[in-house]
Amino acid sequence: MAARPEIPRRGLFIGGGWREPTLGRRIPVINPATEDTIGDIPAATAEDVELAVAAARDAFSRDGGSSWSRASGAARAKYMNAIAAKIKDKISFLALLETLDSGKPKDEAIADMEDVAACFEYYAGLAEALDAKQHAPISLPMENFKSYVLKEPIGVVGLITPWNYPLLMATWKVAPALAAGCTAVLKPSELASLTCLELGAICEEIGLPSGVLNIITGMGPDAGAPIASHPHVDKIAFTGSTETGKRIMTAAAQMVKPVSLELGGKSPLIIFDDVADIDKAVEWAMFGCFVNGGQVCSATSRLLLHEKIAERFLDRLVEWAKNIKISDPLEEGCRLGSVVSEGQYEKIKKFISTARSEGGTILYGGDRPKHLRRGFFIEPTIITDVSTSMQIWREEVFGPVICVKVFRTESEAVELANDTHYGLAGGVISDDLERCERIAKVINSGIVWINCSQPTLVQAPWGGNKRSGFGRELGEWGLENYLSVKQVTKYCSDEKY
Ligand code: NAD
Repeated sequence: MAARPEIPRRGLFIGGGWREPTLGRRIPVINPATEDTIGDIPAATAEDVELAVAAARDAFSRDGGSSWSRASGAARAKYMNAIAAKIKDKISFLALLETLDSGKPKDEAIADMEDVAACFEYYAGLAEALDAKQHAPISLPMENFKSYVLKEPIGVVGLITPWNYPLLMATWKVAPALAAGCTAVLKPSELASLTCLELGAICEEIGLPSGVLNIITGMGPDAGAPIASHPHVDKIAFTGSTETGKRIMTAAAQMVKPVSLELGGKSPLIIFDDVADIDKAVEWAMFGCFVNGGQVCSATSRLLLHEKIAERFLDRLVEWAKNIKISDPLEEGCRLGSVVSEGQYEKIKKFISTARSEGGTILYGGDRPKHLRRGFFIEPTIITDVSTSMQIWREEVFGPVICVKVFRTESEAVELANDTHYGLAGGVISDDLERCERIAKVINSGIVWINCSQPTLVQAPWGGNKRSGFGRELGEWGLENYLSVKQVTKYCSDEKY
């Protein structure tokens, strides 16, 4: 098992330096795999948010040539590449912290950190490319006017993020925001902030100009709400639950402030009877719902099986579930760690007991694994005999729980897939590629996977429809989130030029 690192005791990262929260409060950090308290993080309040926003405003437009918004994209890219390089240097340490803080398997945490570095590098590239895209001419049908477009950073942005991929979800916002020339106040989840605070240390080490990125830890209502409602924060990018998303949107509406929302999901995975390699399909179904302990917004947690393969498929699925290694997430080969907190553990257990009382069958799992006495561990859980009125079909669990329904026809499968208030992702597995493409068009979601589940590519847009939110992260779309488009039109009279 990997050695446990010292947990650095950090303050709030404001204006390029560290400070204790104004009210002096701290929040304990609990390792969910052992239930031990392993450190603490600052509990910021509105007073600290005030300081962070002021630092970000100053960095956005300070005089003397060091304004982040006026720096060239190429200059910003240098800092972002330096951040990526530091993340790679510290990858083992950061992954260990992420594992201790969140309970996710160490190998998954390493993959997350690789994605973090890749995301900074990708947006460094887009920052550089942005320079050449300025003054793009607009073709007009007359000669006495000439128009062009400037793409400008929106301003100071508030970035509020969840605990399931703590540093990666933060990076999906920080990297494009900085690339666009915005300055930021980041508020990670109080349940897992350690790696985000280390990002502050990295910014300090590489000499990122002060105030460009400020990191405020603390509880949502105390530290997140004042960011959402702050009059000098020009945009809010939020990832988290649909309930909190509604609050953020309400606060932002008071200032007519733009928001982008990446919210919850209840994504379907449809499996047809023409699949020759059933084991591969089972593997995708497992990965799609149990990776990161099922604490994935896009988890394909509603499994739709064609009636002709349902029994065979479920036998294999149970076999796979039995063989998953559930252990301390630092142990070699761990595939399922603990869930993030006691609160999340209790919530998941309640979902399972409600499913049972509403008539569902717990085909496998449903409990704490017998060999683990401490820690918030839950077995991979497979629920059958599910009806569309049951809570387990309708609501996001955010844990290692999959519910199963059987279908007979393609149209029935599509109808079941779309039978949700959410619309983040969906998947279809079939050897008939035409059918897959047909279904990809009619699933009402922002992401569709064909013959797989969960690949996440920094180049491709990410985001949902319906109550899964709006706006897209990643790719060029992620950068556009932080840019405003300005039309500049010149009257040229009769001059020809
Ligand atoms: P959450 O809504 O409880 O918290 C998210 C963040 O909002 C945290 O930083 C929290 O402190 C903050 N917050 C809470 N109340 C607030 C308030 N009143 N004002 C401002 N900020 C507030 O969500 P969570 O439990 O951390 O994350 C799980 C949820 O995130 C799931 O629903 C999951 O689907 C969703 N998620 C979505 C995506 C996506 O890309 N769509 C990705 C990851 C997670």
